[in-house]
Amino acid sequence: MRISVIGAGYVGLVAAACLAKLGHAITLVDIDEAKLKQIAGGISPIHEPGLDEILSQVSVETTSDYERIGGSDLILICVGTPCNQDGAMSLEYIEKAARQVSRVLRLKANYCVVAVRSTVVPGTTEELVIPILEQSGKKVGRDFGVCMEPEFLQEGKAVYNYMNPSRIIIGQLDERSGDVLAELYKHVKAPVIRTSIRTAEMIKLASNAFLGARISLINEIGNMCKALGIDTYEVAKGVGLDDRIGSKFLNSGIGFGGSCLPKDLRALIARSRQIGYEPEILERVLKLNDGQALRMVELLKTHVSLKGATIGILGLAFKPGTDDVRDCGAIKIVEALLDGGAAVRAYDPAAMDNFRKLFPQIGYAGPDEVLESDAVLIVTEWEEFEHLDYTGKIVIDGRRVSKAREARIYEGVCW
Ligand code: NAD
Repeated sequence: MRISVIGAGYVGLVAAACLAKLGHAITLVDIDEAKLKQIAGGISPIHEPGLDEILSQVSVETTSDYERIGGSDLILICVGTPCNQDGAMSLEYIEKAARQVSRVLRLKANYCVVAVRSTVVPGTTEELVIPILEQSGKKVGRDFGVCMEPEFLQEGKAVYNYMNPSRIIIGQLDERSGDVLAELYKHVKAPVIRTSIRTAEMIKLASNAFLGARISLINEIGNMCKALGIDTYEVAKGVGLDDRIGSKFLNSGIGFGGSCLPKDLRALIARSRQIGYEPEILERVLKLNDGQALRMVELLKTHVSLKGATIGILGLAFKPGTDDVRDCGAIKIVEALLDGGAAVRAYDPAAMDNFRKLFPQIGYAGPDEVLESDAVLIVTEWEEFEHLDYTGKIVIDGRRVSKAREARIYEGVCW
């Protein structure tokens, strides 16, 4: 199939590389020339296991010129949908990408399908994207098809997730549109659900609402366990054996971050308020999460006075396996440490360059030097942190790194 992917970020680049590996002819469009140049050179601009290897094996046409996508059978829109100040989803990039695709449709002779793969609030594809695409003078359902296919990849495992998805959700305008995506995924063993466009949009946001709620709930249990002297991980093990609950995603710690969960929950809350419904549970989920990372700093203060101290941070990325620091817990922690008068020295195997753009004023060093600090906070559970020497140190652990228990003073955030 001739497929164009709009947006070369975590979602678009992984899709482009994997689809090329599966034998499709791919044109990858982005407005960021530097990023395109890197990809054209076979180097991934993001840290994602397996991606460099695929990029070195396949041929992906990269361009910032939308005219080059005129021959596509399928156009996947994968641009970012960040949060506005008020929490509502910003649809600015989706709108711009749809306008550029619309210009391409105007001149297009053959039928093609435009699929929104960005996460969007329910109603976006039908109320914003389709009207813009129809400004081409072409008629939806007759001259071109539309789908909304949410992406469920997890950063750090994105290539694996793309090749082995948990499910494929095809929100389709009509059967003809959906058939194009169904054909694309015919080799995939996962369940395929064909549904309405709005339902697909909601499945993505509802999935993230459940994940966020689960994390905040186990963190609330963890905060209670800490105060009661109970090991919350043993509690989670016992709870997770109930097959209605399950054992995954029950690790209490410093809460969720990253480019998706926080902003998607905010967007769903904002959309809900627009329709006059106050989403009370989701608001509490976010509120608890907002305070969770800072509990580490409160625990630290019971052992060390911040003013004049040097505090080490192990892990900056919002989770292991990625260099993504968007909305990560380390941001709040470092801000609080600097506000308290501490100096900060940090290490992360992949995310230091991205974090340095946000905090050029702190120190960056290798893990051994970070461990020389007056106290150390473990913020991301990179596997290599299990192999450090913590003897004699003061460690506040947000991620349950077993080896860190050898520290002279050890405190877990929820245990
Ligand atoms: P990203 O910020 O990493 O990448 C977006 C890319 O789109 C950037 O390279 C940007 O330059 C490009 N872009 C912006 N406007 C453009 C335009 N008009 N034409 C061409 N390119 C344009 O974003 P991401 O993390 O890949 O996320 C993309 C979408 O997928 C978001 O809606 C996000 O919520 C969703 N999503 C992300 C993940 C994830 O783990 N990152 C998982 C599931 C869903």
